[in-house]
Amino acid sequence: AAPLVIAVSTSISAKKGLLIRNRANFEGARNVNAVVFDKTGTLTKGEFGVTNIVSQEGYNENDILTWAASLEQNSEHPIASGIVSSANEKDFDLKKIEEFSSITGKGIEGKIDGRKVNVVSPGYVEDMDYDREQFEKLSEEGKTVVFVLVDDELTGMVALADMVRETAKEAVASLKDEEIHSIMLTGDNQKVADWVAKQLGIDEVYAEVLPDDKANQVKTIKEKGWKVAMTGDGVNDAPALATADLGIAIGAGTDVAMESADVVLVKSNPKDVVSLMELSHKTYRKMI
Ligand code: ADP
Ligand code: MG
Repeated sequence: AAPLVIAVSTSISAKKGLLIRNRANFEGARNVNAVVFDKTGTLTKGEFGVTNIVSQEGYNENDILTWAASLEQNSEHPIASGIVSSANEKDFDLKKIEEFSSITGKGIEGKIDGRKVNVVSPGYVEDMDYDREQFEKLSEEGKTVVFVLVDDELTGMVALADMVRETAKEAVASLKDEEIHSIMLTGDNQKVADWVAKQLGIDEVYAEVLPDDKANQVKTIKEKGWKVAMTGDGVNDAPALATADLGIAIGAGTDVAMESADVVLVKSNPKDVVSLMELSHKTYRKMI
């Protein structure tokens, strides 16, 4: 009877918005007792808007936004679209970029009129001089802060606000009811991560994790004895999705994430992580 059960459960899963790419790993979902979530784009909408620009002495806010947005036109990161749309709203003329490159999980680099421009994470400017009090304050408000450099000189910081997905809150609560441990794994700043985790009721937080370390972190969690599902959307999540017992990609995320996942949440709803686990239980019960 198993093949019929599988056929039926496949059509049920399609209706529920679950695209199952790896049957065997999907069936293992019934044993999962820890769910690791990426933050940006997974627990949050990944729809950023610029809320603050803080300039260093000798620089002005409009130039900082113009440099950042010109460069971010070449990036697909959610931070990038937030910065570009903010500059577009202001009708700023964006500059032509040469030699663009991205440093996944850290930021981007390119040349404008022969000058090197970077938009990067706080980790990148650790040794530089800037208003740390201001930075801490913005981070504690849950804002993601990036830094704009021209020829390796800090020109200012841009703060962006993202929105927590209401459905993520419900997902975490349902997992808690099932006694499933919830963990956040993010490349973003610790303070922002803590703020989001608190909104959602997440049990454990790992922040400032570089892309390669996301997979290592999942491995470490597995080695502690957890059966781990990893949920993510970004290029930086792909290795971690492949490392987990069950990799779950957000449908609105990157192709790379979807290709590395066992299941895709077509509706991009984190709550479907819970339906997925329920379905795997039901499918199993029918098979035995
Ligand atoms: P998450 O793990 O929450 O999805 P990422 O690993 O994608 O976050 O990004 C981690 C950090 O790297 C961001 O918070 C930001 O500081 C920096 N970053 C990544 N891409 C960009 C970009 N295009 N522009 C500016 N900063 C970036
Ligand atoms: Mg992400």
